[in-house]
Amino acid sequence: MKFSVIRTLGFYLGGIWTAWRGRKRIEAKQLKNLRYLVKVAREKSPYFNELYRDLPDSEIITLSDLPVTSKVELMGEFDRWLTDRSLTLARARHHMESMDNLGLPLGDYAVFRTSGTSGEPAVIVSSAPMIEYIFGLTLARMSRRQFRLAKEIERSGTNVVLTGGGGHFVGAGFDRLRQNLKIPLKRTFQFIPAEQAIEQTVKQLNEIKPMASIVTYPSMLAILTREQELGRLHISPDVIKVAGETFTSDLRERARRAFPSLQFDILNGYGCTECLFMAFECDCGRQHVPEDWVILEAVDENHQPVADGILSATALLTVLANEVQPLIRYELGDRLRFYPDPCPCGSPFRSFEVEGRQATLVRVGEVTLSPLAFDLEHECARRVQMIQTAEDVFEVRAELLADGNPDQVFEQVIESVREVFAKNGLSGVEIHKSDAPPQLTASGKFHEVISLPLPS
Ligand SMILES: [Zn+2]
Repeated sequence: MKFSVIRTLGFYLGGIWTAWRGRKRIEAKQLKNLRYLVKVAREKSPYFNELYRDLPDSEIITLSDLPVTSKVELMGEFDRWLTDRSLTLARARHHMESMDNLGLPLGDYAVFRTSGTSGEPAVIVSSAPMIEYIFGLTLARMSRRQFRLAKEIERSGTNVVLTGGGGHFVGAGFDRLRQNLKIPLKRTFQFIPAEQAIEQTVKQLNEIKPMASIVTYPSMLAILTREQELGRLHISPDVIKVAGETFTSDLRERARRAFPSLQFDILNGYGCTECLFMAFECDCGRQHVPEDWVILEAVDENHQPVADGILSATALLTVLANEVQPLIRYELGDRLRFYPDPCPCGSPFRSFEVEGRQATLVRVGEVTLSPLAFDLEHECARRVQMIQTAEDVFEVRAELLADGNPDQVFEQVIESVREVFAKNGLSGVEIHKSDAPPQLTASGKFHEVISLPLPS
């Protein structure tokens, strides 16, 4: 796998050129890229060759001609899906068995896995052009202010990435990939696994000086904010960026107050393993789609488009820069709402807001509760978690502070949870204490409430 600065520059200049003349040029570029990707997929991917057999010629095909694809179906056909027969699922999985290979290219490809929050994890393969696209287009779509910010944090200290480290996740491995590809970037990075005890994380963060930025999940930012408020954490990052989960305005406010060192408002990224650069946040706080290379569709349950301004049931993603593993009208599961009006920032690219990775609601009988209904913070605990183990049985787990009295913490948390249920007419719910540590998702995200999966 060889990273080319020239091709990255090509993506950058092409991106500038496309945006220059507005919608017409963007749409023309998108259609050209789509038809090219369809042509390659048909020629080199047996799966797409068969799927697209009865469709119009690639030169005249449009997006609506193409069927929707799903992760489960594509993963089941992995060895026929890729446009390179030499990279099989067995080879990719074998490579990912050892954490020593994290961020290490497998031949011509970078291989990462998704967290598998919705079923089987997907194995995502990128060749050099996809990486060049990420760097080139990110640069092309930055506002002047963001460019200044990027320059500043380059000089101002360590950039911390605090995400899941328990697998070949892109958050943990992307910087190692960058180093392996010898992509020149002056920034220094430090990775901290989200799975370790909060006490350890706080200790490590307090030792990093100066700190330029932190990239993490909103759920981890919530924990860090609380640690900072209580004075156990005392860090002064210039920039905080969150991604991967819904970022509420409450948390934004609270974190802003807890970290007065911030030079810029907290950035909210929207990306996924399948496409690290599928949206960019502008200075007005909206997410824009880089539509020359990414197609993001807001659709209903039947995969029909929903009007702008309406919240979609799911989203379809098409990644035009990934030729090795075609992702074409790939169902993402996120709920989006496109803004009906142009963004005040003046960008010609369509903008949207994300309803986020669907919140896990708690269902007991006929009652549905938001996880936000429960107050799971306790002054003697670093984090508290509630897990639904049967329809009307819950257990409480906690990571306690050294000076906390475990019995008292659990008793008080259980009492407050019981009150919430009682207020909602659920008096027969059982709540137990568990001695196990809080459970994290495969990619290291901490959810305060884990409910039973819905029967499918
Ligand atoms: Zn904007």
